[in-house]
Amino acid sequence: MLELFPDTAEIVGGVLHVGGCSTAALADEHGTPLVVYCEETVRAAARSWQRGAPDATIVYGSKALPNAGLVRALVEEGVGADVSTLGELRIAQAAGVPASKLVVHGNNKSDEELAAAAEVDAWLVVMDEPGEVERCAAAGVKRVLLRITPGIEADTHEKIRTGHAGSKFGVAPEEAPEVIDGARAAGLEMLGLHVHLGSQLVDTGAARSAVERLTGLCADARARLDWTPAIVNLGGGLGIRHVLDEPAPPSPEEYARAVSERLQAAWAAVDLPRPHLVFEPGRSLVGRAGLTLYRVGVVKRTGETTWVAVDGGMSDNPRPALYGARYSALLATRADEPPGGVFAVCGKHCESGDVLIERAELPAPRRGDLLAIPATGAYTLAMASGYNAVERPAALLVVGGRARAILRRGQTEEPSPA
Ligand code: PLP
Repeated sequence: MLELFPDTAEIVGGVLHVGGCSTAALADEHGTPLVVYCEETVRAAARSWQRGAPDATIVYGSKALPNAGLVRALVEEGVGADVSTLGELRIAQAAGVPASKLVVHGNNKSDEELAAAAEVDAWLVVMDEPGEVERCAAAGVKRVLLRITPGIEADTHEKIRTGHAGSKFGVAPEEAPEVIDGARAAGLEMLGLHVHLGSQLVDTGAARSAVERLTGLCADARARLDWTPAIVNLGGGLGIRHVLDEPAPPSPEEYARAVSERLQAAWAAVDLPRPHLVFEPGRSLVGRAGLTLYRVGVVKRTGETTWVAVDGGMSDNPRPALYGARYSALLATRADEPPGGVFAVCGKHCESGDVLIERAELPAPRRGDLLAIPATGAYTLAMASGYNAVERPAALLVVGGRARAILRRGQTEEPSPA
């Protein structure tokens, strides 16, 4: 079970510790629900990506958790940021992401967002639709990619699939030559193509299919337009393990190496010049680094189910309700006790769908126990709501026995942008 937690997780005297800090002490001092990020695990994930694709640019898909404290650690590891709103752009700036490593996305960019991208001279703006050619040129954007929807049904939940035909993102491959030509005519530096196939992918299958489609498209673009991409951005998507009976995805290093090698081989086979690669990992950089601590309240039995109610729920982690995401849990203050049964973990919100875990094997939980749910670093806090007028949880970054607040309870942004 500890393998689902951050690298530094250990049980000391029956209590879960992370980054050298006791989770019991963190919860007492900062309250619950509390999201705790292990800095070493974030940095290790960044290094793993870089080992797998040393010549590529790695940018953090900051929607996984747009937070300056986390991004700052990633910047120190040489990672840039992919931002899809003005808010994410401002957080990336506050964290010190250099403009030369800023990639600006969005399927519905406002004029203000395009102007901001131009003003900060972001490295790349990824155009999502033909109309953005003119709008980018008018806003003063210089360098662009075009997002392609290659028509690939990635093997993940339909709500987090993005590269299928009919997706709201990007343009179909058939439309691409006209947009590429238009962008060049408009004076934009039309530098390359982007694909993002979906999230929580547990193998390289979808990325390999995307490489095949892109190779065909680029060989065709060379013949028809005398254009080849200097940059290929393969998006994010690599998944993490949330429960032990889920297949373990490849490591970032394995994934990045396999996909880059595939692309280089495919490109070489049709004699295309080698492009600069970009990856945009979100979940695989911060997902396993984060865990959520909850205080147990009511424990009761209804029908066949023994419910363990915690002091958060779908407001701080909507993933189970949104797309049936599965999680596991550890009683953080009695972590060395044997299981006493199977329990359902629910939140405190006014919906029957507010269930975080349907079946968790735990020592019989009691009011006041601390429950830790691992692998909650991505798309939990980022999607938190104020449902039932609850406050968003606080978040901490822990390292070497010290904890630093990176998000205050109730806040939507980091407490102290640089
Ligand atoms: N890039 C783009 C364009 C995305 O839309 C996303 C996520 O939705 C990501 C990167 C990050 O994806 P993941 O967190 O699955 O790595």
